[in-house]
Amino acid sequence: MKRLLVLASAALTLVAQADTFPSKTISIVVPFAAGGPTDRVARDLAEAMRKPLGGVTIVVDNAAGAGGSIGANKAARATPDGYTILLHHIGMATMPTLVRNIPFKVENDFEYLGMVNDVPMTLLGRPSLPANNYAELSSWISQNKGKINLGNAGVGSASHLCGLMFQNALNVDMTTIPYKGTAPAMTDLIGGQIDLLCDQTTNTSTFIESKKVKGYGVTTAKRLSTPALKDLPTLQEAGLKGFQVTIWHGLYAPKGTPLDVQEKLNAALKVALKDPEFIKKQEGLGAVVVADKRSDGAEHKKFVLAEIAKWSPILKAAGVYAD
Ligand code: ASP
Repeated sequence: MKRLLVLASAALTLVAQADTFPSKTISIVVPFAAGGPTDRVARDLAEAMRKPLGGVTIVVDNAAGAGGSIGANKAARATPDGYTILLHHIGMATMPTLVRNIPFKVENDFEYLGMVNDVPMTLLGRPSLPANNYAELSSWISQNKGKINLGNAGVGSASHLCGLMFQNALNVDMTTIPYKGTAPAMTDLIGGQIDLLCDQTTNTSTFIESKKVKGYGVTTAKRLSTPALKDLPTLQEAGLKGFQVTIWHGLYAPKGTPLDVQEKLNAALKVALKDPEFIKKQEGLGAVVVADKRSDGAEHKKFVLAEIAKWSPILKAAGVYAD
């Protein structure tokens, strides 16, 4: 009886929370360093979701490290009240294959709130690299085997995935240098401490445009129309057959977050996805804001499970996973 009363009062508290949600600051966990590609999306999204959530303050919590798994785990273990949510990318689908024993279950530990955008990646070189296009890069790589450094945001990150695919396609091993996100990796690329980096356009377009780094190609099937990136060939047309990867971001809440709260967050996300300012900012960075049914939580989950099913055999067949 006592247990029943406790359960009933816990349920009432959740209902009461849902009624008044949001009444305090919401924190979006970004599992990578500040100033990087996922952080950039999160900050623009926070701004666009603020108004539909009644003007509440939304902060970004950069819980970086271990290729994104520290932040994802932090969000999975947070109180399921909607005040801690997670913005994460394709790592949700590739990490279960790329990394054994991640501390959370992608399928069971989260409520899926809807997807945000699709983001191409770009292959970049340090500004002092003698190669000025992909053909020259390819011969520079053959002449420098065993001496090349490639940065990434840790095992399981998007840059790790792209770097593995690149080494696998060329059959060349490079020394990988892990960072807590590609923001610090980019600083080292610009400074010439690392040779190569494959990173999302939400971080790279401004640096390519200002010629702070060398851009060699995009990972999409077609060239991009974004002014800063339109001159880059696709890596496929440059010679890397079948090399195609698009990063996507989705919004998650800890499992058990009340349904009304999930619905309020989803409704605010949908307003953001139609916000012309948000769309314009994302397009300027080469990203495409989701305008299809993946903005629904159930479709978001279906998409992530399909991505796991798609990537798992590709990564296993390529032998590009790590312990
Ligand atoms: N998205 C990561 C970041 O924001 C980079 C990555 O996954 O490669 O730093």
